[in-house]
Amino acid sequence: MRYDAIVIGAGMGGLGAGIRLAMFDRRVAILERHYVWGGLNSFYGKDGYAFDVGLHALTNYVPPGVRGAPLTRVLKQLRLRHADLALGEQGHSEVLFPGRRLAFSNEPSLLQEEVARAFPHDADRFRALWRELEASEWDLPQRETISARAVLAERLTDADLAEMLLLPICYYGSATEDDIDWGAFKILFKSIFIEGLARPEGGVRRILNLLVKRYRGLGGELRLRTGVREIVVDGGAARGVVLDDGTELECDVLLSSAGYAETMGLLSGDAPQPPVDEKERGRMTFLESISVLDRTPAELGHHATTCFYSTRDRFAYRSPESLLDFTSGLTCAPNNYRSEKPLPQGLLRLTVIANGAAWCALPEGEYAERKAELADRAIASFGEFTARESFPGGSRDDWREHTVYRDTFTPRTIRHFTGHPDGVVYGSPAKRGDGATGVDGLYLVGTDQGYLGIVGALSSGIIMANRHALVSA
Ligand SMILES: Cc1cc2nc3c(=O)[nH]c(=O)nc-3n(C[C@H](O)[C@H](O)[C@H](O)COP(=O)(O)OP(=O)(O)OC[C@H]3O[C@@H](n4cnc5c(N)ncnc54)[C@H](O)[C@@H]3O)c2cc1C
Repeated sequence: MRYDAIVIGAGMGGLGAGIRLAMFDRRVAILERHYVWGGLNSFYGKDGYAFDVGLHALTNYVPPGVRGAPLTRVLKQLRLRHADLALGEQGHSEVLFPGRRLAFSNEPSLLQEEVARAFPHDADRFRALWRELEASEWDLPQRETISARAVLAERLTDADLAEMLLLPICYYGSATEDDIDWGAFKILFKSIFIEGLARPEGGVRRILNLLVKRYRGLGGELRLRTGVREIVVDGGAARGVVLDDGTELECDVLLSSAGYAETMGLLSGDAPQPPVDEKERGRMTFLESISVLDRTPAELGHHATTCFYSTRDRFAYRSPESLLDFTSGLTCAPNNYRSEKPLPQGLLRLTVIANGAAWCALPEGEYAERKAELADRAIASFGEFTARESFPGGSRDDWREHTVYRDTFTPRTIRHFTGHPDGVVYGSPAKRGDGATGVDGLYLVGTDQGYLGIVGALSSGIIMANRHALVSA
């Protein structure tokens, strides 16, 4: 069978690309190995509960009609209406370090006031940084990476302030250990602090179902349980794919959201296999527990929508030696988004950094036990930290006694459902902004092209489809 374009993966990147292609009457198929769409940002049901995989927040929130904003542009390109997402804005979020707290919300003045209060000696420098970032393009520069830590050390005098700004930004999208590229920092600073956080009513299902409906409505084919075993390369160009069941499909253009190294690993035997440098292999991944509570998070003192924390003055953003790092993390209370329909139960998510290779190597017999034990310890560590530091706003109680159900996923779960080696979430530290792979007709979309998160990965799919498959549209 022959297509104008084939897209590997039905995550946000693949769906964004597929819709654009179908909109311009391309004969397109999205091939997804899993039985459901969404990739790293999917959904599932367990024991009668409905859970989202990756959704803490839709970043880049702006109200309807804000011209030029990434969310507005994505909705326009996909012909979706802002109202269809039914977005509820965050109340407020916070960053907690020993003895220090910064609150932020979708009202940009809050973070500026908080910085002026907690770091008065850096207030003017922070305002100047804010203006610079506000004016910057939401664009990935095509150049060598620059250390955001080094740039912040030049712009701010207080290293504690730099740490508190870096923590949420790294957790929401850095593939680089202990740092982030300055270009990516600018994009994420805008996405989180200048624009803001929101949640679609009903969770990520709402966005995904809209995307799939739009794609199918335009005539696009979505094939689930359809893995790509091989990319056929002939004369230096991608010509099609071989599926897990041996079926061959031909195409003019192939877009892959599987990741750079994963995609290169699929090239057919006689195609030259570009070496993947060890430095290009990402390691950043996480364990996440979702607790269903017998009351709302606010009744247990969790008033923030998201809470990023470090129990040390300097946080370690790197794959730990052991299975988990308990010294930093983030919580998310979906109940604390404004919504006309309150959630049926209290929910608290807790995310901490994990060693993906170690989780994937655990013997089967040990895995379930370690997962339960360590997820428990991560919640306990957060409770001990907030009790010890007595932050403004009262205690944020340990919620284990009020948990009626808990589900936990690890890098091993992520590997199982997305195919990313060691369950790595943020892909390679070396992004490929132009999507090029070195093979004609084969381009990257999503995480390893460089834009992350829901709005980011959708943008990546749109931009790559526009550039590489719709040039004559
Ligand atoms: C715990 C967690 C929390 C997160 N929280 C947020 C959040 O709050 N807000 C936010 O915006 N983002 C969040 N993210 C990040 C966000 O989920 C990702 O950045 C984004 O979804 C990446 O999309 P993608 O399309 O690039 O890749 P993926 O989602 O990885 O999609 C790739 C798809 O390709 C498929 N695939 C791979 N190989 C093959 C093959 N050979 N054949 C067929 N199919 C294949 C995979 O099954 C997968 O579905 C979170 C992620 C995680 C894991």
